Amino acid sequence: MAGIGQVEHVVAVASGKGGVGKTTVAINLALGLAARGFSVGLLDADVYGPSIPLMLGISTEPVREGDALVPVEKFGLLIMSIGFLVDEAQPVIWRGPMVSRAVKEFLDQVAWGRLDCLVVDLPPGTGDPSITIARSIPAAEVVMVTTPQAVAVADVRRAIHLFQRLGNPVTGIVENMAGFRAAPGAAPIDIFGAGGGEALSRETGIPLLGSIPIEPELRAAGDAGAPILIRSPDNPASLAFGRIAEQV
Ligand code: ADP
Repeated sequence: MAGIGQVEHVVAVASGKGGVGKTTVAINLALGLAARGFSVGLLDADVYGPSIPLMLGISTEPVREGDALVPVEKFGLLIMSIGFLVDEAQPVIWRGPMVSRAVKEFLDQVAWGRLDCLVVDLPPGTGDPSITIARSIPAAEVVMVTTPQAVAVADVRRAIHLFQRLGNPVTGIVENMAGFRAAPGAAPIDIFGAGGGEALSRETGIPLLGSIPIEPELRAAGDAGAPILIRSPDNPASLAFGRIAEQV
């Protein structure tokens, strides 16, 4: 059956701005939930920079069955990305209504079937696609990703207010790119500052689900199309993702 009618839970991963690790969190959160035994779908709705196919090393295309688009299966997840439908080498220059239409088509035409959870990687910020998704799925919970930095936190605060105004509960904050440790046990170096996630959590009353360190292997895993949770399950970043997946 096409659409999300048989999807139990929708978790939308959002951020105030680009480059904070939203996609990385969406991927590893989906994998963490799958590792707990749930049936999980992953929707790449980041229309301006769909990077999930690359970060998961997917080279196949989804097939059409009648009117429905069948998700690609990888690492135990059902995956659909707007990246499957656009030319990777071309910049995506879409106007608002086109973006909204594409996102709606995704939600309605993908044959997700029965799922315990659908994780949605939203575009950064508070533009059209984020609003369309929030409006289309009033029950979608939002998890916000921020870096520990004050500027990122200010953007996230704005995004939180938008989702709340639209009626989507913001159920958790994930702080990414926290302290870098040059060696196990070494003192962390706070490249992007410290404490932003905790401060935001205190201010908004939204729980901080966890803090992911800056981890070169996490970047390498994304570039290699082999997520860290699969490649290095004992890495501190993988363990942090596992703990976050337990709270969602
Ligand atoms: P966004 O979706 O917010 O634009 P991405 O998940 O694409 O961000 O991450 C941006 C880049 O930063 C990617 O190359 C990713 O591998 C890397 N990255 C994300 N989180 C971390 C981290 N904790 N440590 C090191 N690199 C990271």
